[in-house]
Amino acid sequence: MEKIYNFINGEFLPATSGLFFDNLEPATGKTYSLIPDSDKEDVELAVQAAKKAFPVWSNLSNDERSKWMLKVANGIAKRMEEFVAAESKDNGKPLKLAEHVDIPRAISNFEFFATAIVHYASESHHMVGTGVNYTLRKPIGVVGCISPWNLPLYLFTWKIAPALAAGNCVVAKPSEVTPYTAYLLCKVLDEVGFPKGVLNIVHGLGHKTGDAIVRHELTKAISFTGGTSTGKAIASIAAPMFKKLSLELGGKNPNIIFDDCDFEEMLATTIRSSFANQGQICLCGSRIFVQKGIYDKFKNEFVAKIIKSKVSYPEDPKAQLGAVVSKGHMEKVLSYIALAREEGGKILTGGERVNLPAPHDEGFYIAPTIIEGLSFDCRTNQEEIFGPVVTITPFETEEEVLRMANSTDYGLSATIWTSDLKRAHQMADQIEAGIVWINAWLVRDLRTPFGGVKSSGVGREGGWEALRFFTEPKNVFVKY
Ligand code: NAD
Repeated sequence: MEKIYNFINGEFLPATSGLFFDNLEPATGKTYSLIPDSDKEDVELAVQAAKKAFPVWSNLSNDERSKWMLKVANGIAKRMEEFVAAESKDNGKPLKLAEHVDIPRAISNFEFFATAIVHYASESHHMVGTGVNYTLRKPIGVVGCISPWNLPLYLFTWKIAPALAAGNCVVAKPSEVTPYTAYLLCKVLDEVGFPKGVLNIVHGLGHKTGDAIVRHELTKAISFTGGTSTGKAIASIAAPMFKKLSLELGGKNPNIIFDDCDFEEMLATTIRSSFANQGQICLCGSRIFVQKGIYDKFKNEFVAKIIKSKVSYPEDPKAQLGAVVSKGHMEKVLSYIALAREEGGKILTGGERVNLPAPHDEGFYIAPTIIEGLSFDCRTNQEEIFGPVVTITPFETEEEVLRMANSTDYGLSATIWTSDLKRAHQMADQIEAGIVWINAWLVRDLRTPFGGVKSSGVGREGGWEALRFFTEPKNVFVKY
């Protein structure tokens, strides 16, 4: 059985305990590799390595750091096929999704921040006749990055790249559910001779390894993406230690469809925004609100298309949905479908596990599920399911749909479909979300602020926001 190793101070190491735990392939339900069961001893080694590396890394010019990061981007690109296959195997997502989305984006994350840092400038504030303030932006030191399983390398590198570009040294933990591409990234770091100790990757469980990263007195900033309850637990530890915190948490995003939208474009995009990556994208529009005039047409055409969509093993080129990430997660999603039934929801399509023939007969597959007839404030419509499950709800007026859309604790993203410009802008203004797409979904410009409001998080990633997060401003005043 293949073993995954930690990467600390440029060396591949097992956990100091010598223990490993199983890494399952969602497509087959079978163990296919072993993950180091790291604890605080391993995190200590990683933090000390990062601390030692910091003076040299932070004193490189932006240009030199940029060059190192571009070498990593090229190193991933050279092993493209291997990364794509690994991401799909580890997560259960269709191979073509990993090929077109996950791995290209991980490369872009390194390229984007490697090139951003060479253009980064800090502010100055002139006081006429008095003097001038200039603001230095210093790297923080050792920072912790913790990421989830749904877009494994994509989200892992989305944190690591700006942290490194800004001159920090990093202790990072990928999700224990999908550790493999982070391990491959370590092979790339090794191959390109990346400076030792600058990026340390420690594998393990959240409550052990992740917790140790958060609690360590030397990790001065924590960038976390994951569930809202985990974010709360992390904040309760990190806030009293006065750490900088960036929390990207759960969502329950509304997809609001008005009568006057471009129907065909809306329908094609809504299929993606509902079920891409088996609905396991924090930005998926899981609550679909449709204006009454087109409700029946939408329902019929949406259901007709989804009934035909193919749930299959990830390597199947025709697979539209692959496996969900784990048995536990599959059970959670199925329990929400059962709850929806109890709450009076009508399952229009899906609603059950899909059984594929061997060798995928123990894989974690769920049919894409569309539910109608639920009230906007029931649990199914308020709690994050994070699977291939959407609800559809009719509405008449803007006020009504805004009230329903804004009724959850979450506020990550929203999508609005209308050809009425005024209405689009007014809705965008009033919707409680950090990200709004009008007549589009998941169009990403890496320069834009990314993050949510309410229980969807604190802080923003992306562009200068990320570089600001990973630096401390120091204002200097010079008197004339
Ligand atoms: P999770 O919170 O269970 O785990 C995320 C990471 O945190 C993992 O690496 C895990 O090991 C670690 N962790 C768990 N407990 C910890 C603790 N006590 N201390 C420190 N680290 C700990 O989330 P998940 O199930 O991996 O991911 C799904 C969630 O992520 C969903 O809620 C989804 O909405 C959210 N998500 C949000 C965004 C966003 O940008 N807002 C993006 C993707 C996913």
